[in-house]
Amino acid sequence: MKKVAVFCGSSLGFNEIYKNDAIKLGNHFANNKIGLVYGGGKIGMMGVIADTIIEKKGEVIGVIPGLLRHEEVAHNNITEMIVTKTMSKRKVKISRLVDGYIALPGGFGTLDEIFEALTLGQLGIERKPVGILNTNGFFNHLLKQLDIMVTEGYLKQSNKEMLIVSESVDDLVSQMFNYKAPIMTKVINKVVK
Ligand code: AMP
Repeated sequence: MKKVAVFCGSSLGFNEIYKNDAIKLGNHFANNKIGLVYGGGKIGMMGVIADTIIEKKGEVIGVIPGLLRHEEVAHNNITEMIVTKTMSKRKVKISRLVDGYIALPGGFGTLDEIFEALTLGQLGIERKPVGILNTNGFFNHLLKQLDIMVTEGYLKQSNKEMLIVSESVDDLVSQMFNYKAPIMTKVINKVVK
């Protein structure tokens, strides 16, 4: 994995533990020459991971929709900033740049982005690893909801298992490196082509 998208809060959260894991992940990327692709903000968890990598002279590419760029939230000191016309074009641009996706704690934006990545995997449109860093059990209730979706017949267990979950940065990234996407049936491949 040369470049990984990280989706995370535009807020910092109330517990320092989350910020510390954003720093840990940023250091891991910089030390292992993994480029960060992210939403381009300077605020919250987004700003923390970008600043950590820039401080260590790593690569940070922001992809921001024009409407957010002109607010006081865009980072002005990263390797490259790509401006897209819309939020949906931003997602497409990010997906073209990266070899995998990670979510750190965040809100609606973070969930929207990581679930889109999972949906692309589920349809066989992409075969990239998707991971969540489950710091402090932050995503435990969400994972429980996924179990309910499986039990109630809305999510295949095999698709649920595409999601890589870990509480440790090193373990999460190593699982992502070893990820093998499940083989999709021909029917699904035909539908998406
Ligand atoms: P949220 O989890 O709701 O705080 O949203 C964070 C996610 O949505 C990030 O991964 C960004 O890609 C995107 N996002 C939300 N707010 C902003 C912002 N002010 N600037 C840039 N990206 C943002």
